[in-house]
Amino acid sequence: MTPNVLFAAGDAQWRVYEAPLRRALDRAGVAATLAPDLPPAEVDYIVYAPDSAVQDFTPFTRAHAVLNLWAGVEKIVGNPTLHIPLARMVDHGLTQGMVEWVTGHALRHHLGMDTHILHQDGVWRPDAPPLASDRRVSVLGLGALGAACARMLAHLGFPVTGWSRSPKQIDGLRCLSGEDGLRAALQEADILVLLLPLTPETENLLNADRLALLPPGAVILNPGRGPLIDDDALLAALDRGHLGHATLDVFRTEPLPPEHPFWAHPRVTVTPHIASETRPETAAEVIAENIRRGEACQPLLHLVDRDAGY
Ligand code: NAP
Repeated sequence: MTPNVLFAAGDAQWRVYEAPLRRALDRAGVAATLAPDLPPAEVDYIVYAPDSAVQDFTPFTRAHAVLNLWAGVEKIVGNPTLHIPLARMVDHGLTQGMVEWVTGHALRHHLGMDTHILHQDGVWRPDAPPLASDRRVSVLGLGALGAACARMLAHLGFPVTGWSRSPKQIDGLRCLSGEDGLRAALQEADILVLLLPLTPETENLLNADRLALLPPGAVILNPGRGPLIDDDALLAALDRGHLGHATLDVFRTEPLPPEHPFWAHPRVTVTPHIASETRPETAAEVIAENIRRGEACQPLLHLVDRDAGY
């Protein structure tokens, strides 16, 4: 039977995704009916973005799965009407974009680029930066994105510690877990990268006590989710000079309101949730592969653990 695939991620995304999805479904050998509007009771798969008009899944009585276009699922994972499998996006274009953002911002701080870019003032400042081997990096979250970023930073020569919920072994990284692991990861982070999902366990993970564990002058890069950090505690740590800088891509409220103190803070860089995005061509392949798998009664890729929340 031809599966019916509802594209429930909004009109703007439909214009971007329709052609790549049709091509990917063709390549996967799936003859599907793909449309942005279908009778709910006839839908087999729902391609989804959390800001979709679809918030009640009850009418989708025969749907097999929701296929999220985003990596983060915090806005859908707790939906009480959702009782079918939820797959999230792991897309190598998205991963590559995140690796580039994290590496670029880590190198900015490591090399002290601002000193020379912001001060073209005739003063000769001959302080050479240390080598990467003398700058410790910790990456909280060793999933699709965190592990890829950690590997790239290790490849550049940074000593990299990673922290995750379950214990891991990854070549070239020191991998830690648990509360003691977190403490060690923070204490040894000249540069700290946050690539955790937002869950009840990770919300406000970086509170005042944990920020105080970071070495003086530490730099935070947060492309994960805004609520991972207690904003007031972060501002206080920056104001008293304990932290060197925070480069933030994600916020509790997005867009970040113009009056928010992060905008004007001399030790904060705001980027507008652009660290990385799902790339239609590569993401369409992932969606099509999951529909192919669903039709072949094979396990879906990248399923969300609803209890863990990611
Ligand atoms: P992922 O593959 O699900 O990895 C999540 C990682 O976090 C895993 O290593 C997991 O541990 C760890 N983790 C989760 N809860 C934890 C806890 N309580 N304590 C310790 N570690 C915990 O996710 P991903 O694809 O790498 O994406 C990470 C996040 O990046 C997304 O959730 C999203 O919020 C964010 N993101 C941002 C952008 C952007 O443009 N700014 C773009 C895409 C994604 P285990 O390995 O043990 O499961």
